[in-house]
Amino acid sequence: RAKTHQRSSYTYFTRDMGVEIRERVRMMHALRGAFESERLFLVYQPQVDMRTGLAVGAEALLRWKTEEGKFVPPDQFIPIAEYSGLIVDIGEWVLRSACHELVHLRSLGHTEFQMAINVSQAQFSHPLFMQTLHRALQDSKAPPACIELEITESMAMKDPELLIKTLHQIKQLGIHVSIDDFGTGFSSLSHLQKLDVDKLKIDRAFVNEINQGSGNASIAKMVVQLGQSLEMAIIAEGVETQMQADTLLSFGCHLAQGYFYAKPMTQDDLHAWLKAK
Ligand code: C2E
Ligand code: MG
Ligand code: MG
Ligand code: MG
Repeated sequence: RAKTHQRSSYTYFTRDMGVEIRERVRMMHALRGAFESERLFLVYQPQVDMRTGLAVGAEALLRWKTEEGKFVPPDQFIPIAEYSGLIVDIGEWVLRSACHELVHLRSLGHTEFQMAINVSQAQFSHPLFMQTLHRALQDSKAPPACIELEITESMAMKDPELLIKTLHQIKQLGIHVSIDDFGTGFSSLSHLQKLDVDKLKIDRAFVNEINQGSGNASIAKMVVQLGQSLEMAIIAEGVETQMQADTLLSFGCHLAQGYFYAKPMTQDDLHAWLKAK
């Protein structure tokens, strides 16, 4: 049986290797088919200011509904998309769709709304990434300052030179950048200081057990303090209870994304949710 240790790396027991590879290839074809026949879609999870409960933005999250009507979780198909290179085309579509939805939201009066978009390593290091980004902005007329790209901590470590260069170009366009799942990737603090990022997203794992007397509360608190001293904004991921929200607020973290406030939803549901606020 294969075990997924990280998003894009696998280890195998050799015995089942053929099975695993065949399964991966099958899934890759299915994913390509789904993308081409437009069975991938985006949902949006609100990000709120915990002090007011008001939405400040949303994260765009990819969904795959198979022909049989089953949902394949992104944690399963994103690694396949990355491994196969499909993520470059899918990622461009995500970028363009999320930009269009941002403009749509603005036309409905949500003019302060921020749209957070996940970007994979393979997209980020692609030679045409900046061009793709630029075109997505131009075609949608989305204001760059309302867009935030989420990169992961591990990307920050793979190719520091390229990362610093690309971040610089992104910032020149006026787009914001955040580090997703922060605290899980062991990036060095001196390295973090060199990166021109605007926000840290505290990983769900630390938020999840923040009130259970484990070391996670100290980690969350430390990330908040780190963000404050580096003048980065902080958002907590996976807030599910009032108690977690209160603890984060007491640490000085004001922004959150989590089921306690809202689950990821379709764009129609998002519009209704925002209207009801
Ligand atoms: P992520 O970027 O860290 O996204 C946050 C994940 O946490 C989402 O899972 C969201 O549904 C989940 N979440 C949010 N609040 C809560 C909560 O209170 N409790 C729990 N249990 N979960 C919560 P999702 O949508 O399954 O996505 C998983 C991962 O797949 C994402 O993690 C991201 O790494 C990747 N992903 C999703 N969409 C895209 C995309 O368009 N492009 C790329 N490159 N990756 C994507
Ligand atoms: Mg994310
Ligand atoms: Mg995350
Ligand atoms: Mg995550």
